[in-house]
Amino acid sequence: MEQHGGSSSQKRHALCIPYPAQGHINPMLKLAKLLHARGFHVTFVNTDYNHRRILRSRGPHALDGLHSFRFETIPDGLPWTDVDAKQDLLKLIDSTINNCLAPFKELILRLNSGSDIPPVSCIVSDASMSFTIDAAEELNIPVVLLWTNSATALILYLHYQKLIEKEIIPLKDSSDLKKHLETEIDWIPSMKRIKLKDFPDFVTTTDPQDPMISFILHVTGRIKRASAIFINTFDNLEHNVLLSLRSLLPQIYSVGPFQILENREIDKNSEIGRLGSNLWEEETESLDWLDTKAEKTVLYVNFGSLTVLTRDQILEFAWGLARSGKEFLWVVRSGIVDGDDSILPAEFLSETENRGLLIRGWCSQEKVLSHPAIGGFLTHCGWNSTLESLFAGVPMICWPFFADQLTNRKFCCDDWGIGIEIGEEVKREKVEAVVKDLMDGEKGMRLREKVVEWRCMAEEASAPPLGSSYVNFETVVNKVLTGHD
Ligand code: UDP
Repeated sequence: MEQHGGSSSQKRHALCIPYPAQGHINPMLKLAKLLHARGFHVTFVNTDYNHRRILRSRGPHALDGLHSFRFETIPDGLPWTDVDAKQDLLKLIDSTINNCLAPFKELILRLNSGSDIPPVSCIVSDASMSFTIDAAEELNIPVVLLWTNSATALILYLHYQKLIEKEIIPLKDSSDLKKHLETEIDWIPSMKRIKLKDFPDFVTTTDPQDPMISFILHVTGRIKRASAIFINTFDNLEHNVLLSLRSLLPQIYSVGPFQILENREIDKNSEIGRLGSNLWEEETESLDWLDTKAEKTVLYVNFGSLTVLTRDQILEFAWGLARSGKEFLWVVRSGIVDGDDSILPAEFLSETENRGLLIRGWCSQEKVLSHPAIGGFLTHCGWNSTLESLFAGVPMICWPFFADQLTNRKFCCDDWGIGIEIGEEVKREKVEAVVKDLMDGEKGMRLREKVVEWRCMAEEASAPPLGSSYVNFETVVNKVLTGHD
């Protein structure tokens, strides 16, 4: 049964709103659960479109919520579609900036007019939904932003304006792209001579009005207005960058990985613990299959919620896996190949039948990664996937698709010692070689040792009473969100 602490007028009410994409909804839901565990009444706001997708994938009562943890929706402003297709990021960005403020404010007014729940006392918003800052300022309540990428990605994004002023972007012409990407940038605090190719992409644009660059400037220009900014990272992992960031944005708090705080504080079998946010239906077969496998023998392959492969790329990955001779679990999301997901050839399927499990759809990635049979992760380096792999002690093969994933690849492979790269162009021989190297080779062993070291540091950071992420989370909850020490 749900516990109700305090009367509804005393209780604090956090309105949590993620950016409407899977890699943003997941960490926000974890954060919302943690706030609920600290006694907050929580309202979690999805877009109508994603709300419907979650109901479809998790069942009609999945978002009924509880008295003190409720789900609400606002429209994303895009034309209604019933298709669970890949999201058009550019349209979504434009639409959330231009259309979401009014329904968001209406929602707050409606929530505040009810008598059975406390009035909204703070907004916890994805940094990319920065219209919420306007609402918070109008209502005179604190807004805490959640930055769902790494601290390194944030410090790089914060310097895109300077890249423009220094006429490094946009490119005048794209004829010498390779040379441009090798340009070393040595003036960003705590970044030692980082190359443009290691920036979140969008640095190859020739368009002075590039919508992604405009979006980055929009978000980074507003972020300083927040009362606090949570980052899903931990101090040891990005120590120097966090120090530099704090001199630009003093209200930055590293509080990650959320997964550890969640595991410690939320009972997975409780009503709150069971709340989930998958936009795709989750299969259950893979864990049973993994139970039949020996320790650290299976390579897990998953490219997240947004990556789109070409036909050639998926075939090169497939034949690389086949040639490696290793066991693998490959989760192939609908929409991963433009136009056609049923592209994997019959010869590949029959050749790997006894050692590969191909799942069409979606799995519980956190559970899969923490299964003892998993020995490696071929990933697109999304920030959540990176942290989940680190926390599970699983080394990675890195094949970034876009945005901050390029930066994550560089740090996983060159700095943190937990990943091997394949190179931009996927070739089956290379896939075969790195899979063997990771699963059997000395390099794989070194990476495995290193990732376990990071995992221990992540646990220390999250441990009460003195771990940095734990202390930072307490500080924001007590000083900013609750308003007392
Ligand atoms: N995920 C999952 N099952 C899948 C694929 C992904 O649960 O089959 C989750 C994964 O655990 C992570 C999120 O979806 O929390 C993906 O976020 P990430 O930042 O790694 O990548 P994005 O999807 O944003 O590119």
